[in-house]
Amino acid sequence: MKFDVLTLFPDMINQACSHSIIARGIESGLICVNAINPRDYTKDKHKKVDDTPYGGGAGMVLMCQPYFDCFDSIDKDENTEIILLSPQGETFNQNMSVELSQKKHIVLICGHYEGFDERIKLYTKAREVSIGDFVLTGGELPAMCIIDSVSRNIDGFLGKIDSAHFDSFSDGLLEYPQYTKPREYCGYQVPEVLLNGNHSEIAKWRRKQQLIATYKKRRDLFEDFVKNCKDKQDLKLLNEVISELK
Ligand code: SAM
Repeated sequence: MKFDVLTLFPDMINQACSHSIIARGIESGLICVNAINPRDYTKDKHKKVDDTPYGGGAGMVLMCQPYFDCFDSIDKDENTEIILLSPQGETFNQNMSVELSQKKHIVLICGHYEGFDERIKLYTKAREVSIGDFVLTGGELPAMCIIDSVSRNIDGFLGKIDSAHFDSFSDGLLEYPQYTKPREYCGYQVPEVLLNGNHSEIAKWRRKQQLIATYKKRRDLFEDFVKNCKDKQDLKLLNEVISELK
């Protein structure tokens, strides 16, 4: 999977990719992250990339020429997904992350200042994606969120094949609570069921905890899960959870 990131601050991307699991993914060749600076494509002798908005108003708007030319410098094919980071876009979520992990090439276009000249969206025919209903100073952190999350869904990226399988949202539910050593700390105990080595008991407990966590923290997801649930064991657990928590 190749990510090309158009950014005026390539160090933000390179720095963020130089740690932990993302760095390992790059080292192993599973992913490649390439930050490209539109400023390197400007024809202006002062390397100008932004200008004041037509019609007046505060802030600076990113100009077409450096972005068009930078975008054109990237090799693309029918399997390339082009994403423009914007607070006005469709909201990124786990389903979109899984969908994007099937692509071979993703171009992420980061804005800054007041954002893009509208014609950059038209020219690149990009899908506008937001990471949530709030406004950041630039698209670099959203781009990194997408790179990180999409990479986790690529086969072989995480150490264990199924590490992402029970992650929150992967099947519409939040993850069950996790514990590690020691068994007791400051009076807080690890639930007994996790210590007895009975794998089917543990699996049942974890599934129930997923339902409880989702019911308590994300009622919207819980209700969707209830509507679509067909699995007999899940239905039984659902009834238990609903009657216990009501
Ligand atoms: N004036 C723009 C508006 O109100 O829609 C906001 C521009 S914002 C200050 C600068 C850039 O940060 C945007 O062009 C976008 O690339 C990025 N950005 C800010 N918030 C974002 C979000 N929630 N999701 C994705 N990108 C975001």
